[in-house]
Amino acid sequence: MRLANLIDGHLHAPASMSYLDVFEPATAAPFAHCPDSDATDVETAVQAARRATPGWAAMPVEQRAQRLFRLADLIEARLDAFAALESRDSGKPLQLARSVDIPRAVSNLRYFAAAIVTWSSESHATESGTPGTGAINVTLRQPLGVVGCISPWNLPLYLFTWKIAPALAAGNAVVAKPSEITPCTAALLGELSIEAGLPPGVLNIVHGRGPSVGQAIVEHPAVKAVSFTGSTATGARIAATAAPRFKKLSLELGGKNPAIVFADADLSDDNLDTIVRSGFANQGEICLCGSRLLVQRSIYERFRERYLERVGTLRVGDPEDARSDLGALVSKAHFDKVTACITQARTEGGRILCGGEAVRIDGRCADGWFVAPTVIEGLDNDAATNQQEIFGPVVTLIPFDDEAEALAIANGTGYGLAASLWTRDLARAHRLGTQLDFGIVWVNCWMLRDLRTPFGGVKHSGIGREGGVEALRFFTEPKNLCIRY
Ligand code: NAD
Repeated sequence: MRLANLIDGHLHAPASMSYLDVFEPATAAPFAHCPDSDATDVETAVQAARRATPGWAAMPVEQRAQRLFRLADLIEARLDAFAALESRDSGKPLQLARSVDIPRAVSNLRYFAAAIVTWSSESHATESGTPGTGAINVTLRQPLGVVGCISPWNLPLYLFTWKIAPALAAGNAVVAKPSEITPCTAALLGELSIEAGLPPGVLNIVHGRGPSVGQAIVEHPAVKAVSFTGSTATGARIAATAAPRFKKLSLELGGKNPAIVFADADLSDDNLDTIVRSGFANQGEICLCGSRLLVQRSIYERFRERYLERVGTLRVGDPEDARSDLGALVSKAHFDKVTACITQARTEGGRILCGGEAVRIDGRCADGWFVAPTVIEGLDNDAATNQQEIFGPVVTLIPFDDEAEALAIANGTGYGLAASLWTRDLARAHRLGTQLDFGIVWVNCWMLRDLRTPFGGVKHSGIGREGGVEALRFFTEPKNLCIRY
């Protein structure tokens, strides 16, 4: 399967005519070829986007929304094909792609199509003190023009649409770059966008590597804003490139999230399942995964026993097999990183309570990049294992005595994306909720998402917020129009 760039409403080979291998993580075999594009392709895409901008921005919002609704319908009608491709490309269980990734991509498009139609801006009546005179201030929210959207490999179509949907809904033309590791579903979306009636140049998808395509998008003077999701290291590079060019930036970066379990928590089987899922869903390759599990000392041993019992029931296997809870890690490089982190945890003195090694699956997946769900204890919060983002199926258990200690451990990280709290005491939930240094705090739940709410992190987890009106604000420029009467 050879993928193509979408530029100016047409599918194009890259100017370089060269391609990157795209691997199926479950088998370690290449199955697709992704354009290895460069700055020449980005330039062509930006010029197409510039030409498309005035027409798209001037189109009545209902008509823009209609096209996004149509794109959502087209994806939904091919749910199975999208899910199969997403699973094959990323290694995630097919069942997860079918029930979470692709439906959420459809919801992202529908949500922002609906949101733009009902969005309103502010106005302020300025009194002069003399009846009959004064001014009306109207705050216009105008599209920025051409914007860049750069997304990672862990939730490929889910995060790609989370960016392009608000950007397009707000009237911008987009030059987007999906991860070169998982480019397939974005390429399929690109083809459907033509059928959905997006005018040529409104959505351009340029495939390729970060340092060539991503960097060229960020550097391009006509690109007014960049919405990026990915690692903190890449985010820092993008911020350094964008700052002297005064571009708007939204950065959604890494995390080292705590899940905090108090002795008074309702640890029903359902809640325990959610706590297990919060560590291992999508092989732990979700920025929101709780990789540090803080447990109050008075229940530590009993909790550990029940937790390990449940983790022990997780099945690692062929992503196509409906019984698999975990599939393969996304790439050989990532597999090597995760297994090296487990080795480092051992060196630091961590005790591996379960997992701790690669898993070999017989049959077609014999060469795949599988790692067993791994639980480690005995490491201080300042150990490297508890400080660096592993982004794999690895959870550390950390005991704490009281609320103050839990707070200190939870906040004792450079990251600040998401925390989850498990307690029956809502006063405590409120108290800690206000003091936890994270952009998102869940109480007695995890990854319960409402697309209207602000989403994003603090500290090294990023700047800016996505979701709801925050995303529409990001992709528009406020202009105050003051009319005196
Ligand atoms: P990454 O930073 O390696 O790559 C992300 C994207 O940036 C890719 O498309 C890549 O090609 C591109 N890129 C790389 N170098 C670039 C450059 N110099 N200029 C412009 N673009 C460049 O991240 P990844 O490994 O694909 O994704 C995993 C990371 O993403 C993890 O750290 C995870 O926590 C983070 N993540 C964060 C969120 C969030 O919402 N905060 C969500 C998902 C993933």
